[in-house]
Amino acid sequence: MTNKIRVRFAPSPTGPLHIGGVRTALYNYLFAKKNNGDFILRIEDTDQTRFVPDAENYIIESLEWCGLKFDEGVHIGGSHAPYRQSERKEIYKKYADFLIEKGYAYYAFDTSEQLETIRKQYESGKSTFFYNSETRLKLINSLTIAEDEVKQKIESGEKYVIRIKIPENEQIIVNDQIRGTVVFESSILDDKVLFKSDGMPTYHLANVVDDYLMKISHVIRGEEWLPSAPLHVLLYRYLGWEKEMPQFAHLPLLLKPDGNGKLSKRDGDRLGFPVFPLQWIDPFSKEISSGYRESGYFPEAFINMLAFLGWNPGTEQEIFSLEDLIQSFTIERVGKSGSKFDPEKAKWFNHQYIQKKDEKTLASLFSLVLIEKNISVSLGYIEAVCVLMKERINFVSELWEKASFFFIAPTSYDSKLIKDKWKDNSSQILILFSEMLNKLETFNSTSIDTNINEFLTANQIGKGQLMPLLRLSLVGNSTGPDITQIITIIGKKEVIKRINSCIAIIAN
Ligand code: GLU
Repeated sequence: MTNKIRVRFAPSPTGPLHIGGVRTALYNYLFAKKNNGDFILRIEDTDQTRFVPDAENYIIESLEWCGLKFDEGVHIGGSHAPYRQSERKEIYKKYADFLIEKGYAYYAFDTSEQLETIRKQYESGKSTFFYNSETRLKLINSLTIAEDEVKQKIESGEKYVIRIKIPENEQIIVNDQIRGTVVFESSILDDKVLFKSDGMPTYHLANVVDDYLMKISHVIRGEEWLPSAPLHVLLYRYLGWEKEMPQFAHLPLLLKPDGNGKLSKRDGDRLGFPVFPLQWIDPFSKEISSGYRESGYFPEAFINMLAFLGWNPGTEQEIFSLEDLIQSFTIERVGKSGSKFDPEKAKWFNHQYIQKKDEKTLASLFSLVLIEKNISVSLGYIEAVCVLMKERINFVSELWEKASFFFIAPTSYDSKLIKDKWKDNSSQILILFSEMLNKLETFNSTSIDTNINEFLTANQIGKGQLMPLLRLSLVGNSTGPDITQIITIIGKKEVIKRINSCIAIIAN
């Protein structure tokens, strides 16, 4: 029997979740659901110095907004609880002790000040200091001092860390589902700290121990963790868990739109688009970073867009619901090279999803904007506006920018349009037109169209004379959709009223 697929999303609550993090969560989710597996949320908060209040809630809320549901996790519990590493503190020490006992790890007593001094010395000699096989025997650790002295130091409460003892001249192989076999020379690794003086494990130890205890079958995470993978492979080996070691898949980086470097949290709104799923207010500086949700993106569009940053279905199809993505997703179709983030494409996706929304949904969203503006009209009226306008917008919020004239009559008129189009006979034409309109019994776009044409012929007026005047009266400028549609929606009475005010204001 093959083991159950179990994957985890394991963010550190050091701030808001970046869209790259959401993509990692998404790929984990898709992979799990495609394979009837479990999707787990684990909070990796072992670095208390980087802890940011509210970050955990933010992460949970973001993924909920995206529609990614967990099977187990910090917020819902599960059979491998607790899912917050700080609450699992007691679990890790024995594994660190085991590694020491087996000679795979050692106690190190060097203070941060001592290490800093050494680091500086190396720097002034134009080299970089690593705590590794070359230097470890010159430093203060259980490899260089006598056993009873080590014991005595520990018993007297002296601070120590536990470091892994990286083997010399060994090739460590990481089998990656995206990158194939990646070989690392052990000489490039340093003796990373596994356990810290504050009694907490570091990311590396906690991550491996928890993946093992939580029976994680696949570790799907960002490429930035690939350099840590050989260390994790060694830990699995040293802890005797090589057989249970999960499969690794390191996802390609998300790059800035120009392809120059990783899209980082610091890019914030600097590049003109959000890098966070939801708005984030920094608890310390109170600085606000915008979010996709608040910018008017539909979660389905956001997810669809993210899915394509690193994966493709191998067909021309671009619009995928979450369910479609689950069906189509495979790790084999995740690329190796970084994906450039394209803000225009993000808008395009939202545009596509707006087209798929029915008028009821759009109208109920838009009505919230209208309520704020103290405008009360029937839902049917709002729906008609939405049907007409949706192909012209990427966001519901643009409805107000582009269609406010449906709700408030213009009070000022575009001076350039007046200069170009308002002639001596303009008032006359508009009056004749409104008289014609007033007599119309059937008031729909077809009848209006026919009657406009008949009106133009009968009065020998050119289309180019009438239309700009109507647009001026109804919209106030030269923007907006087809004039017949505008007339149909606004209605006879309001059209005539607007024509009269336009004449009154411009002609006088
Ligand atoms: N806590 C790590 C992070 O913040 C998790 C890396 C991993 O998935 O192993 O990204």
